[in-house]
Amino acid sequence: MNVSFLSIGSNMGDRLRHLQQSVYTLHSQEGIEVVAVSSIYETAPIGFIGQADFLNMAVKIQTSLDPHTLLNVCQQIESDLGRKRLIRWGPRTIDLDILLYNNENIESENLIIPHPRMLERAFVLVPLFEIAPELASSEEVVQAGGVELWKKIDGAPESFWGGSLK
Ligand code: AMP
Repeated sequence: MNVSFLSIGSNMGDRLRHLQQSVYTLHSQEGIEVVAVSSIYETAPIGFIGQADFLNMAVKIQTSLDPHTLLNVCQQIESDLGRKRLIRWGPRTIDLDILLYNNENIESENLIIPHPRMLERAFVLVPLFEIAPELASSEEVVQAGGVELWKKIDGAPESFWGGSLK
């Protein structure tokens, strides 16, 4: 079984519901089990300013899917939740990125793992290190500026979507 970490963000509409829905949909897929969810953090937008703040979180999954199939699943969830790609770095209903997949290094046309921008993004690293403290090296000091805890999440992943989405 493979272990992968994903980053999930939303800054449009009912942001919490979009996070819950995408985590639940991930978990419902054949070959994916969500085994840990981080707390939810609120982050000011980077890039295209003048849009709403993001909610960001990270999840850990166990999966039998290969990385490209996993990317397809993520993109399907994005399009099912109605993500509009009107502006690069602009508002999005939901954004799912694959951060890590085992210890693999992948560089194909449409998939780069580890995710190329993850190390410079506190809104990715803060939730990731919450559920995977073993990944944070002692020299690594995350500059968490602009990343505020929005909702503490404890307990089993199932409690995150709370049964209300089934
Ligand atoms: P974004 O708009 O930031 O979600 O970028 C989406 C594009 O990044 C897609 O075309 C993907 O093929 C590509 N991509 C490359 N590496 C990754 C990754 N590790 N996770 C998700 N998308 C990726």
